[in-house]
Amino acid sequence: MKNSLLIIAFLISGFSVLAQDMEYTRKIINEICSAKYYGRGYVNKGDSIAASFLGKEFSAIGLEMYGNTYFQPYTTDINRFAETPVFSFGGTDLVAAKDFIVIPSSPEADGKYKIEWITKETLTNQWVLRHFLSADHSGSIICIDSTGLNNPELYAFANTIFAKNYINAKGVIEGSEHLKYTARTKINDYISIQVKPGKILPETDSVYLKIKNDFVKDYKTQNIVGYLPGKSDSVVLIAAHYDHLGMMGDIMFPGANDNASGVSMVLNLAKHYKKEKKLKYTMVFALFSGEEAGLLGSKYMAGNPPFDLTKVKVMFNFDMVGTGDEGVYMFNAKEYPAVDTLMKEMNKDKEYFEVMTTTGATWSSDHASFFDKGVNAVFVYTDGDNSNYHQPEDIPADLNFAGYKDIYRFVIDFVQKF
Ligand SMILES: [Zn+2]
Repeated sequence: MKNSLLIIAFLISGFSVLAQDMEYTRKIINEICSAKYYGRGYVNKGDSIAASFLGKEFSAIGLEMYGNTYFQPYTTDINRFAETPVFSFGGTDLVAAKDFIVIPSSPEADGKYKIEWITKETLTNQWVLRHFLSADHSGSIICIDSTGLNNPELYAFANTIFAKNYINAKGVIEGSEHLKYTARTKINDYISIQVKPGKILPETDSVYLKIKNDFVKDYKTQNIVGYLPGKSDSVVLIAAHYDHLGMMGDIMFPGANDNASGVSMVLNLAKHYKKEKKLKYTMVFALFSGEEAGLLGSKYMAGNPPFDLTKVKVMFNFDMVGTGDEGVYMFNAKEYPAVDTLMKEMNKDKEYFEVMTTTGATWSSDHASFFDKGVNAVFVYTDGDNSNYHQPEDIPADLNFAGYKDIYRFVIDFVQKF
């Protein structure tokens, strides 16, 4: 009786600790995805508003500073849309971010443009193709007929070729089932638009476009970094990017999974290590900006590290860790046999994850900036329904955190054993 009461008491206290962590996790994610952070991008300085909040969080947790600040400033050029782009044809307005997005490498536009269609014939009849490739398209927008081309591979191939505008058109429309907004530091000489297939049909011979740019040179942004000293000066680097895509005019991209989830993981781990008495390693916690515009913040920190890069034993970069019902990826782990072996042994032993996949080299997130400098850098990502990637629907309410607590436990145990 007494034993079972003890077990119940233990279970309750255990649950309350986890409940507390998830309450904190949700609080952080809800906060930085809210309207006052403008999608943590470049419209209304959303990234800097988020940095100020996260710096205060570092301070509340009790992290040490390098010098007398948590901030590592740097600048970048950036293009932004202060107004929501307009795309219409024949009196029909397409809905921004639902039916179409404008890639922020696009130059300004305001007018009616002729549409030239790439049909099945263009791609399969050599005479038609030859004529098309040699013609002048400088006043036209090129669009691929997704319905007429009922061959997915040919359609994908055509999209790949024409999206890069090798034929010097005024612009290109790329068909895409999953619209993906992005961030860009340069303006191209052609308009680039993604449209959901079927939203614009071959009867359309002209469109109206209004795109208004606000290109900023030397935009000031910043990384955030703090640390906890350990028994040794060997470093474990715990990192995530806190920026997201900001706004396309009035439309906000909150970036809950990408990457408020990763930010909350870094903060949770910082809180954990702050409570530990004697740390085995010096723990460095970094939050990068500029990831979506090309890993800008992590490249800057890897090039200007406030700590000794050669002392980094391992880096964990968390990018999109809010799902996990279909498993967890440890990208890059296979690059380091000691890391890969320990991870697999640990998971076999304690079954943290039903499915854990380790891979070779990837360059798709901030770990790459450190990997390129010779650091053992692992990118942690959860698999599941991530279909809202780079869409306004990437919201906190949709995160199920299926892999979240297991990643947290796994990283703590890994660092202890490594
Ligand atoms: Zn991301």
